[in-house]
Amino acid sequence: METLVSLCKRRGFVFQSSEIYCGIGSSWDYGPLGVELRNKIKRVWWRDFVQRRPDMLGLDASILMHPTVWKASGHVDNFTDPMVDCRECRHRFRVDQLAETPWVHYCPATKGNKFTIPAGGACSHCGAARTLCPDCGKGELTPPRQFNLMFKTLMGPVEEDAAVTYLRPETAQGIFVNFDNVLQSMRRKLPFGIGQIGKAFRNEITPGNFIFRTREFEQMEIEYFVNPHETVEGRPADEYWHDRWIEDCVAWFRRYGIQSDNLRLHEHARDELAHYAKRTADVQYRFPIGWSELMGIANRTDFDLKQHAKFSGKALTYFDEERKEHVVPYVIEPSAGVDRALLAFLADAYREEEVRGEKRVVLRFHPELAPVSVAVLPLLKKRDDIVRTAHAIRDELSRDLTVVYDDTAAIGRLYRRQDEVGTPYCVTVDVQTVGDSDKGEPADGKVTIRDRDSMEQIRVEAARLAQVIGDLLRGTAWAEVAAGAGRS
Ligand code: ATP
Repeated sequence: METLVSLCKRRGFVFQSSEIYCGIGSSWDYGPLGVELRNKIKRVWWRDFVQRRPDMLGLDASILMHPTVWKASGHVDNFTDPMVDCRECRHRFRVDQLAETPWVHYCPATKGNKFTIPAGGACSHCGAARTLCPDCGKGELTPPRQFNLMFKTLMGPVEEDAAVTYLRPETAQGIFVNFDNVLQSMRRKLPFGIGQIGKAFRNEITPGNFIFRTREFEQMEIEYFVNPHETVEGRPADEYWHDRWIEDCVAWFRRYGIQSDNLRLHEHARDELAHYAKRTADVQYRFPIGWSELMGIANRTDFDLKQHAKFSGKALTYFDEERKEHVVPYVIEPSAGVDRALLAFLADAYREEEVRGEKRVVLRFHPELAPVSVAVLPLLKKRDDIVRTAHAIRDELSRDLTVVYDDTAAIGRLYRRQDEVGTPYCVTVDVQTVGDSDKGEPADGKVTIRDRDSMEQIRVEAARLAQVIGDLLRGTAWAEVAAGAGRS
């Protein structure tokens, strides 16, 4: 994790928020490359799950909503975590995470020597299990108290008159309260889904692990509405679609490069299930901090629509023409965090390799996710015609792609820099491209494309460059493109 955090800072992916003021707990800013990576993750998610699917629609609901929304959803009463405080060092812990936290122990059997004992373990000298604060090893912990994770805020110009409302802790409720609006305006038949990407806020008790758990984060959520009275392939529609969404979500992460070995499913046991859920499966990723939730896919039943109907007095039903009945749809909710997805893509892409006796750090991002798609590098920055051609190529490619121009180092160094930020293709312009009139060498009009992963190079006509790069980014294999062009 430390390696990633330092790479992220050094290469402009993620900075500590308000760093010049010593930072603010658990808030992070996405730098020039981070914002590109983030936008690309959101763009491909939206394209694959909303734009390309005939059964999906999009929505962008507001962050501030009527306070009753949160009463109806159960968040005011139930969106709590039990927490305890250390009476000595004042550190705060989520009770349910205590068992997963390594703990500091001053062992009486070894004259009070200090040990850090792995989570859930006992001291191998005195046999003691943890009872005190895991952080300082000295303080007693308070009895557990429930702590509501919603951020409260005041709406309106005069504080005393202002209505208390909340920053949304999930984007989902914006979809539920708009269910009827979407149904009526878009004339949909079940099953159909609504996707949304947006910020959510949770006053987490123990944020941390870089961007894994923050108080402000972004979600990519889908509420997929199904008719609970229907069956698909002999199974209740909600159960069938739940499995389909689990498969689709796992396949999506794999398609964009996450290695299968680093993904697994975790089925919620009965005592882990939210009170409204019939079944929930988490997709877990092997983060640098260990296996942890990347996203959750829950069957929320008809709980939310029924609650909002009850609190608003508006019917939130669907008329089933075939059965001539009004039904409250069941909802399958695939819910992913943009920041956790970004951390997973980053961790999975990171490689340290040895190339000709030297260490090469490379981020093997899927070409569609790489923050920079193409780097244009002039081989000689003293030659005006080379620099001009390189700028012209940058200008042309940047109409559709994220492209950088760099001439601030020798070519080997420039390649390494691009490898380290995961740029899949570098294009170099050299003397052959523009010709050398002093030596009577004609221009061949070709440029070199270098592939990040194989480090192979091919030469293609500059006039065909945009098309070749486009093919590569859309998934044509390097070997196929190389076969049609000359290797250099
Ligand atoms: P956790 O158990 O890790 O607190 P959760 O089960 O409360 O997560 P959900 O309510 O299911 O999370 O939210 C859906 C997704 O939103 C999560 O899978 C995660 O990707 C993301 N997410 C939730 N809380 C945070 C957070 N504090 N910081 C970053 N991402 C988050």
